[in-house]
Amino acid sequence: MNAPLAPGLYIVATPIGNLGDLSPRAADVLARADAIAVEDSRVTAKLLHHIGVRRPMTPYHDHNAESVRPGLVARMASEAIALVSDAGTPLISDPGYKLVRDARAAGHAVVTIPGPCAAIAALTLAGLPTDRFLFLGFLPPKEKARADAIAEVAGVRATLVLYESGPRLAATLTTLAAVLGDREAAVTRELTKKFEEAVTGTLASLAARYTDAPPKGEIVVVVAPPGEAPPASAADADAALAEALTRLPASKAAGEVAKRFGLDRKALYARALEMKA
Ligand code: SAM
Repeated sequence: MNAPLAPGLYIVATPIGNLGDLSPRAADVLARADAIAVEDSRVTAKLLHHIGVRRPMTPYHDHNAESVRPGLVARMASEAIALVSDAGTPLISDPGYKLVRDARAAGHAVVTIPGPCAAIAALTLAGLPTDRFLFLGFLPPKEKARADAIAEVAGVRATLVLYESGPRLAATLTTLAAVLGDREAAVTRELTKKFEEAVTGTLASLAARYTDAPPKGEIVVVVAPPGEAPPASAADADAALAEALTRLPASKAAGEVAKRFGLDRKALYARALEMKA
């Protein structure tokens, strides 16, 4: 039996595909924890089997978190509780931040054991600027909400990183191109696994590539920051305005396009009214 860990909460990152990416420190903490809070015990059981460890597991996921959190936090007074997700870093598009918040509020030690994270791995493959990036997680599934979420960050001078599924990839790339303009991007897939790849191109070319051939596996999309845009042509502004008008009232559409292209809002509002008429 390994020596016990000090009581508290241990946030343990696990592999996103390649089991060799589990760090020795993560393996050590999992082996010594009194219990491991898991999203899916079948997934974590495989990881524990890989390192030859058997520890009690307790479910902690979106559907039971509210009810089990107080009990888990109470246990941290005398036990070392490790938190893992099915893959990657807990709390990153995964449950956990409220557990950290409540553990700290209760005065327990909170320790992080960092490791794999799909968003960061994707950034390292994309070949796009990494000095400033904005992680968007999963965009809303419905078209209008998705376009609105993209429009909200159109002016942000940072590389964008988002999680997506194969069946929705082409639609998301199409909306990204329509709302952001045809920026450079990378579709990274199956990171750390046998079929890992990073396909680069403009958003529109990537959308065309995947429209009739939705890719399999897990995906992270990385989009370049807005460039030093050449002055927008009237046709560009009209196209952006027409797209924005499918989602927004004229005043908001004009505001969005004015911000994106650095154009006069009033003139665009007048043009939007003309287009609507
Ligand atoms: N906590 C995880 C992390 O640290 O990356 C993310 C969990 S989130 C529920 C799952 C999403 O992450 C997938 O739908 C996919 O977009 C992305 N992802 C996870 N593993 C991946 C991999 N090996 N390759 C590409 N994307 C991956």
